[in-house]
Amino acid sequence: MDNRTDGVFVSVEGEEKDILNFRNQIMISPPEASNIKTIEVRSGKINGYHDFTIALSKNTELDTTEISPDIAVCHDCLEDLESDPERINYPFVNCTNCGPRFTIIEKLPYDRQFTSMERFQMCPDCEREYHDTDNRRFHAQPVACNKCGPEYELWNDGKIVKGIEEILSTVAEKIRNGETIAIKGMGGYNLVCDALNEEAVSRLRERKYRDSKPFAVLFRNIDCVKDFCYCSKEEESALKSWKRPIVILQEKKKLAPSLSKGLNTTGALLPYMPFHYLLLNRIKSPAIVLTSGNFSEEPIVIDDRIASKKFPVLADSIVSHNRQILNRCDDSVVRVMSNEVSILRRSRGYVPLPVDLPFDVGGILSVGADQKNTFCLGKGKQAVMSQYIGDLKNLPTFEFFKESVDRFSKMFNFKPVRLACDLHPDYISSNFAEQLSENLKIPLIRVQHHHAHIASCMAENQLNEKVIGICMDGTGFGDDGNIWGGEFLLADLKGYERFAHFDYVPMPGGDKAADEPWRMAFSYLFKYFGDSSYLNSIPAFQTIPDNQVSGIREVLRKNINCPLSSGAGRLFDAVSSIMGICNYSGFDSEAPIRLESVASYSVSDHYPFHLADKVVFDETIKSIINDLQNFDISVISAKFHNTIAMAIAEMAMRMREETSLNKVVLSGGVFQNKYLFTRLCRLLVDRHFEIFSNHSVPSNDGGVSLGQIVIASNYK
Ligand code: ZN
Ligand code: FE
Repeated sequence: MDNRTDGVFVSVEGEEKDILNFRNQIMISPPEASNIKTIEVRSGKINGYHDFTIALSKNTELDTTEISPDIAVCHDCLEDLESDPERINYPFVNCTNCGPRFTIIEKLPYDRQFTSMERFQMCPDCEREYHDTDNRRFHAQPVACNKCGPEYELWNDGKIVKGIEEILSTVAEKIRNGETIAIKGMGGYNLVCDALNEEAVSRLRERKYRDSKPFAVLFRNIDCVKDFCYCSKEEESALKSWKRPIVILQEKKKLAPSLSKGLNTTGALLPYMPFHYLLLNRIKSPAIVLTSGNFSEEPIVIDDRIASKKFPVLADSIVSHNRQILNRCDDSVVRVMSNEVSILRRSRGYVPLPVDLPFDVGGILSVGADQKNTFCLGKGKQAVMSQYIGDLKNLPTFEFFKESVDRFSKMFNFKPVRLACDLHPDYISSNFAEQLSENLKIPLIRVQHHHAHIASCMAENQLNEKVIGICMDGTGFGDDGNIWGGEFLLADLKGYERFAHFDYVPMPGGDKAADEPWRMAFSYLFKYFGDSSYLNSIPAFQTIPDNQVSGIREVLRKNINCPLSSGAGRLFDAVSSIMGICNYSGFDSEAPIRLESVASYSVSDHYPFHLADKVVFDETIKSIINDLQNFDISVISAKFHNTIAMAIAEMAMRMREETSLNKVVLSGGVFQNKYLFTRLCRLLVDRHFEIFSNHSVPSNDGGVSLGQIVIASNYK
């Protein structure tokens, strides 16, 4: 057997039926985290082999094999923690079936010398296991044990504590006492505290400058998850999968109140590193906060020196280790919608698995959008998407972006021959691509934001034809210079025609209106009902200082800094504020998330709306205001969601009538709203549409780079 950069090459000799059986066994029971795409059988000359050996990896310079994502520690390794003499409580235990991969890889081929395990000399025992074809650790690159491998240390009050037992017992005690610990994890440092200790959680929130964004929670085991959250079959298997993402679950019982700040969901996950298991076994609490180690919006810290400088403000002590993290990688986030997993943030466990495409995208680098940035590079018929990078307007995040583009290029032996970026003239990512295009003298293709969203969904569903593309999104630059985001496109991978869109409404103060939903509420009311008594009757505005309200009124009257937006996200913002749920957004999409959070699933009515070449919501908003006096917000929110679902379904019908197309492609960040997505799918199924949505990549801006790369490859 030979582990080459273009795949695994196996020579087998024997009877034909045995060889066939060998092949079938590989297909039927592959290792859990493996992903066998094709097996090609070729006959060759007989060499008279006596045993099975693995040849040294060859760098064939051909098409690279994929790099594996990081894999949660497996059952066998967890048993070794208790039984293998050299691995009793050894927190870096791993084998061929589990352990770090992407986060420790420098470049291909995947061999120890090109990983951050390079500096650890294997002891004779590990060496023996590594070379023994019958051993579970045969060619496990990060193989290590208590004698020879990396180790943890605790930085406590200027003292360095070594020895896993003492570290674990000290950390456990600190967590019991309500302290916060920074712990070096798989793809970066995490901040950890008792998830049931309100004082600890609210202090962490203050220190992180994080007002309202929920923290993820690491539960001891699945039973503990089920004590605190509702968990369906699909959600349970997502939690337990080797990818171990954060899964957004419906809350059953309260953890510390300031964890989710009034939302009825919990971002739950199960242990994935040996250290997690060892620690959770030593504390009483069934759950700890596990949030990224950073100040809000900055990239997660991976560097030990930066950790020692930054974390004293954020945490009471620091647990570090000497295995270097080469590729920063946040925890991934998923949500089960309509019984299928949707990815909200694609990082650890998923990256850098490629998306397989029905056509060639080789040599293209697409730089994505500025928010929730990811980029994507093309290798033949595969699109390799980066981990979640974040918001490029923060300088450290932009540095992370540039560094990652370099790392991926090196890892995948990639040189761009064509570039793709967003149409937005002021995007940092677009400027980066312009520069690169000039420097390398290669073409740059600009892709409209919502066309890219639709194409991302088409690509992962292997569609290459004209479809009904429905993009419900926050913001994106439109080809008429306005801000788009409630879009009905007749689209293929080459181009699109804008069939209809949500009504244009001014965004008073530009981007600021996205951070302050009350501005959108005011703007919708001003547009539909003028400067009338309506404006004064809305309770939500009574908490806004008078001078600010009159300021916005002036801005709208005189039409100063009021770009037009058709963003569905802005409509959800406005309604959330009108209903008194959220006037100021503390984190991305807070107003729509809170609005969804209160919606009752038992309500099926909807409000009136107008359908033309645009969808107009004047009647909708009028009815909402009337209902405010008589109905609970759970009813109003449900009716509003049902209205949007119905408006989309009816517009889809019109598009089908005009074009005879029947495939509906749904994308855009607003479709991460489970209530809306589920209702809409039901309506579309009833109307016999064929529905496609994002599953391999996020439907939010994290998926835009995939859309850009496929559109750029179809550009002539
Ligand atoms: Zn293992
Ligand atoms: Fe978007």
